Order: sequence, then C-alpha cells, then structure tokens
Amino acid sequence: MPDATLVIRGGTVVGPEGLTRRDVAVAGAVVVGLAESIDPPQTASVLDAGGCLVGPGLVDLHTHLRQPGREEAETVETGARAAALGGYTAVVAMPNTDPPIDSAGVAREVLDLGAGCAAEVAVAGAITVGRAGAALAPIGELAALGVTLFTDDGAGVQDGALMRRALDYAKGLGVTLAQHCEDACLAAGGAMHEGCWSSRLGIPGVPAAAEEVMVARDIALVRLTGAPVHFLHLSSAGSVELVRRAKAEGLAVTAEAAPHHMLLTHAAVAGYDAVFKVNPPLRTDDDVAAVVAGLCDGTIDAVATDHAPHAPEAKDVPFDQAPPGMLGLQTALPVAWEVLSPHVGAEFVFALMSTHSAAIAKLTATDPRRAGHSAHGGPVEVGAAANLCVFDPAAPTVVEPGRLASRSRNTPYAGRTFRGAVRHTVLRGEPVVIDAVAQR
Ligand SMILES: [Zn+2]
Repeated sequence: MPDATLVIRGGTVVGPEGLTRRDVAVAGAVVVGLAESIDPPQTASVLDAGGCLVGPGLVDLHTHLRQPGREEAETVETGARAAALGGYTAVVAMPNTDPPIDSAGVAREVLDLGAGCAAEVAVAGAITVGRAGAALAPIGELAALGVTLFTDDGAGVQDGALMRRALDYAKGLGVTLAQHCEDACLAAGGAMHEGCWSSRLGIPGVPAAAEEVMVARDIALVRLTGAPVHFLHLSSAGSVELVRRAKAEGLAVTAEAAPHHMLLTHAAVAGYDAVFKVNPPLRTDDDVAAVVAGLCDGTIDAVATDHAPHAPEAKDVPFDQAPPGMLGLQTALPVAWEVLSPHVGAEFVFALMSTHSAAIAKLTATDPRRAGHSAHGGPVEVGAAANLCVFDPAAPTVVEPGRLASRSRNTPYAGRTFRGAVRHTVLRGEPVVIDAVAQR
C-alpha cells in the first residue's frame, strides 16, 4: 500500500454489499486501503468519521448554477461550495443560463469556471438553440467536449417531431436527452398545482396532466427511436406509473425526483410565500407518496436537487409573478435520509444519490469518456477514485438560510431541523469540507 496522504478513521463504509466498519486510506486521489484499523503516517491528514457512514461522493444530475448571466443569484464557485457542503463531489450544471449552454463556447466557459471549485462541475447542453424549441443545438459539437446529457430544462421540447429528430441524433452519439416534462399549452398561466389548494387560494393551477402527457409522449418516442430518455424531476403519481410501465416493457428510460417532491405538498403554498413556488409544482399527499414509492421500488433511479437559486428581490413579489425554484444542494441528503431511510438501507440511499446519478450522467469509472478524469458514484473500494461523502446519520442539520453557502436564500426548509448531517466531503483525495466547514 502506498503511503496514505489522508486517513478517514472510525466510519462505516457504504458498499454495494452492505455496511462494513472500516478505516479508509487515500493516497493522492485514490483509495489505497480499507481495513479495520489503519495507523496514519505522520504526514497524513486524518478525518474523524466516528459514528458516520462513508459513502461515494454524491452526484447531482440537476443543478442550476446561474452563471453566466445571473451571478447575483449564484456563481459556479458558490454553487460548487454549497454542493460540497451537501456531500456532493460532482454536479451537472443545467443549460438555462444567459446565454444558454447551447454552444461549445459557453460549455467550455462553465467548465473552466468549475476548475478548482469544491465539486466537479459537469454541464448539460441544450437540445435546441437558445432552448427555444425550434432548431437543434450543435449536439455533436457539445458531445465532443464530453457533454453527455442534453436538456432544454425550464421548458420541455414541445414539438414531438423535433424531439424525435433529437433522439435519433443523440442515439448515434451515445448521449442522453433529459426532458423537463411540461406541455406548455396545458401549463400556460399556472403558478401552482391545480387542485383544492389552488382553488382555495385563487392561484391559477397547472394540472398534473401537463407533466403526464409529455412523459407519455416521450415514452412513445423512446419506443419508436430506441434512444434513451431521462425524465427530470418527476412530481406526479401518474408520471411515476407511466415510467414504471415503460421500465416493465424494457424501454430505455430513467428518471429522477427532487427532495421537495418527496416531502412537501401544495398545502405549503397556503401562506402565499413564493419560496414554495417551484416547477413542477408541489402536489398532493398522494403524489408525494407515489414519488417516494417510486424511489424505493427502483422506478425512479435518482434523487436530483433541482437546486434553483433566486436572489431575494426576485422572490419577494406576488406569488404568481415570482420565478419558480428552490435551493436544494445543502439539504438534499438530510431530507432524503429522513424520508427514505425508514424504508430502504443506507446503501440504497447512496445508490439513489450517487451511483445511479453518476451512471446516468456517465461520470463513472467504466465510461471511456472519463479516461483521465476522476470517477464518481463509487463503489468505495481499493483502486477507486477518492470522491467521498462522510455523513453522520445522528447529527442534526438545522436549516438557517443566512448560513447557507449559496448566494441565494430561497430554501423551503428555513427553521427546520433534519436528522443527519454531512460531516466531511473528499474530492479527488482532498478534504473540501471538514467538520461541515468548506475548505475552498
Ligand atoms: Zn425543470
């Protein structure tokens, strides 16, 4: 074993086969030893992981970093810091920036901004030029830069024929299209879920059908083209059931759900506070239960934050005029832990938040595009990249908006306490978070 540069002591390693009490030795950017007890060399850094789970660093499939264009809300640097504090070692930056990531030039700009940040920053490219839904973006040019996920997130691709053409093109390139499922005509004018609360509050609603018709259409297009589709932020029971049936049929579909859709309902909008405005909207108790059931039975592959920072003045307007979106990176694991750990084991929580996400974004050791890059998604074993999340399932996370690393404050959990807290995050063998304090 080469001399360790970092030893993580006293934790329980989360592996695909279960939980094992192990110290972890890291040399450079690689895990070099797992043993019941490892004596660190004098020159090594030591992290105490007593009482903690040591899992693969989390991977977020859905992060809005707002740069370029909306730096008052977030920058790549501040978003990556929030990610690291949340246990993430890699995030996929969504392309709805200004200008959007619909060219190699903008993709390269965001990738360059991410270099040296507290988490690895990958980018998703737009499917259409300007995310306008009219003409295909240069997907091949972006794929050549290593971009593997494409989406017009913020909007769905409305034109089914254009989506079909994009799928044919993506299939040839070995990349995946990710859909924000929303029929623009059905959703027009809506600001929250259409249901009992929208009627009571007098806020125009978006029916769950606005999401479900596009999920159904895209499943038909997957069947037609054989190209994979990843469904972003599924929020309705109907969507979950459509994906469940598509998977049973053997179609190449994957899906994610956001922590807020696992916990919060449209009742949260009762006070007209725009912090609870999000797209897709918070829905009913039955929808929340279906999303959680879908995560637990493997219908939904991954938890993704949809971290969507907005500057305070942007949200401090009447509900129907506010932009949708809420922060997520620093609260995702505690929320997911609280919701999911009564139903599934720690290994499965880390699979949903790291291993499966890394596979969908092709950030794994086995993808040839990762040659020369540090892989994410585990497993935590000798020879693997040292991208790690050390999580204390007993420690509380108290959500104080003013203490979040994001430039924005729009967390829906202000004042709440969750069970479980990220203690350390290790990126390429370097501790980027120690005792819940960011190191870069
Ligand atoms: Zn979206």
